[in-house]
Amino acid sequence: MIRYDRMRTPYNVGPMASLDDPKCQMLVMVKPSRSGGTAVAENYLFKLIKFGPMTHVSWALNSDEAVTDYVRNVVKPMFDLNPDLQERVGIARGEDTDSFKLVSGYPVEWLSAKDSTFRNRQPGFMCLDETDAWAKKWAASPRVQIDGRQKMLGNRRKSAIMSHPDLGYQSGVAAAFEDTSRGIYVMTCPECLGHAAAYATKYWDEIPQFKLSWTRNEELPPDERVKLAEKTAAVACPHCGAALDDKQRRDMVDAALTRNDASRDGWMHRGQRLDPEAGVVGEPDAHIAHGYWVHGIMLKTQDIAKLARDYEQALIKFERTRDAAQLKEFLSKQLGEIFEGSATTGGISARILKERVAEAAYDRGFCPREVSFITAAIDPGRRKFDAAFWGWDLQGRSWLIDRVTERQRLHDGQQWRDIDLYGRIDDWDILWSKVLNRTFPIVGKPDLVMPVAVTMLDSSDGNATWKAREFARRAMLGGYAWGGWQRLKLIKGQAGKRPALPEAPTRIDKDERGQQVEPVLMEYRLGVDALKAQTLERLATADGEPGCCRFPREIEPHYLEEYFGETLIDGKWVRSGPNETLDLHGYAEAGRQLLAPDRAEIDWKNSRPVWATPISLSKQAEEAAPAEGPSIFDAFAALNN
Ligand SMILES: [Zn+2]
Repeated sequence: MIRYDRMRTPYNVGPMASLDDPKCQMLVMVKPSRSGGTAVAENYLFKLIKFGPMTHVSWALNSDEAVTDYVRNVVKPMFDLNPDLQERVGIARGEDTDSFKLVSGYPVEWLSAKDSTFRNRQPGFMCLDETDAWAKKWAASPRVQIDGRQKMLGNRRKSAIMSHPDLGYQSGVAAAFEDTSRGIYVMTCPECLGHAAAYATKYWDEIPQFKLSWTRNEELPPDERVKLAEKTAAVACPHCGAALDDKQRRDMVDAALTRNDASRDGWMHRGQRLDPEAGVVGEPDAHIAHGYWVHGIMLKTQDIAKLARDYEQALIKFERTRDAAQLKEFLSKQLGEIFEGSATTGGISARILKERVAEAAYDRGFCPREVSFITAAIDPGRRKFDAAFWGWDLQGRSWLIDRVTERQRLHDGQQWRDIDLYGRIDDWDILWSKVLNRTFPIVGKPDLVMPVAVTMLDSSDGNATWKAREFARRAMLGGYAWGGWQRLKLIKGQAGKRPALPEAPTRIDKDERGQQVEPVLMEYRLGVDALKAQTLERLATADGEPGCCRFPREIEPHYLEEYFGETLIDGKWVRSGPNETLDLHGYAEAGRQLLAPDRAEIDWKNSRPVWATPISLSKQAEEAAPAEGPSIFDAFAALNN
């Protein structure tokens, strides 16, 4: 082998074995810079040339300059230093240039990513290097380029995509990783012998992971913060909390390679699971694409004091300027991590929310006693609707009370049928029992339930807009109101720089065909960008502080993941997966703002507003409606106009 010492980069043994495996057609490596990943493909090429069977090879880099550099620094020495390779290269004119060699009759070429590179070629082995730095046109979907070129080759095809993940989860190398075996490196803590991933990625977020950690003190001047980071840098074990030093870390990386469990060269793939004590268990699923995610804390050439220092520096820069460029670059190139907006900077992630659920102090569907009132939000789709309920106190703390997705409606009291919200207005009636009229038992007060103060109904979906408006009209005619204040509010989300709530709602006095229609509806155009940013800031707020968010027991993990289905990148929200909970939380907050609970005229101590008044189950049987003074209703009516 050339220039390869397996103990320098033990985590690259797995990827090399994958390229050698005839059943693996594609290798996808997400990795930081200088992790030796390219050497994995270079070794494979070396073996192809030396031992065969030789095939047409295309090696694509991001620019002509990158090709020039690469052939000078890597290709030339490889042939110069290995006469047995050089003797297989053609000697006719044009068969042995810097970036093209005819080897055993097959072309081997180093190219920059451009149209001509991906035309009229059928390489048996393609290597696409640093793809996330390529021009957008090819960077977004390297796999499509490979499939296009190799589609005629059947099982004899082989390819490698390797890059640091500059483009985030939705595009580029990380997106290609999603449809692979999703390999993650598992290490063993020397203190407690517990097993955890070096980096679990978002695809394995129930797996515990080691973490780069250091002491942060935001009160200190920047220089001292950076020094403190350098001095206190460690890798934290998720099981025993030990702060492991750099030697322990390097030993851990080595030991993984020969660990006696079901992992493959230290790696765990889809189909397997992690037992914190026993290590990797089970067989990996068969997959033609093998994925490997290398993280900065696996690099033995790396020094964690430097990593912590650079990380702290990038965070300081971000705190001051709100410009994430340096932080994004650090995460991608040095750690091989993806910048996830405030999920990154606030240290909040789906994983952390799930930990909060594990420690939750109230049951789902119940109203904690600290809650002053409840707002709900509905996102209707064609065959389903998503809805959620949040309880609020007067300092903006929120409690998720329930999160539901409904797909069916009971017909004639016996048949469940799929709903069709685009097609049938009657199917919208399911919202009455499932959302609008729901009440929630108050924890520790068996006789009391809390109603929904206001429900925000999203009418943005063009296919649902008119049905949503018609439903809102029916709710209005049916008297679903607190006095004169409608309890159901139509909303439309709008992106861009605008306040969360508009100065005034838009009047909707026409129907789908442009005919005047009564009663007139109000529709609120919400500034959803501001609402999403605020929601993510609140998620990162320390427990107990004003604005913090709490979650009930037994909430399905995918509902929490939806908070991270969208990321603020360069001032724009970019969607990478389902994001309903994030949207709904923002809408529910807009509902809170519409209620304006901090208005001076509300006397929370002595007479709570009707929308924040618990209903007594025993009294409800006696009196039909709670008696309320008109002042609150007048205030609401004023608010609405
Ligand atoms: Zn440990």
